[in-house]
Amino acid sequence: MNTPVPECPACRVQMQEGFVPDVGQNDRFRRTRWTEGRPEKTLFGGLKVKGRRQLDTVTFRCPRCGWLIWFAPELPGSDE
Ligand SMILES: [Zn+2]
Repeated sequence: MNTPVPECPACRVQMQEGFVPDVGQNDRFRRTRWTEGRPEKTLFGGLKVKGRRQLDTVTFRCPRCGWLIWFAPELPGSDE
């Protein structure tokens, strides 16, 4: 991912790149994805994501104050 590294709006220091893992099926970790629209439950108690636009997220953290900034860059086919 070529997301430019942002500065913390409060501390003006460079933030650290990271991501927030999400436990998916079979306890495999994956990135938390941004998903278009409002969450809706499926019959099985999960959340509907079928047919929704989804993007991998990148999360930057300020090493000084802990502020998190999320990005969901427009990059096709970079997952899994
Ligand atoms: Zn900060």
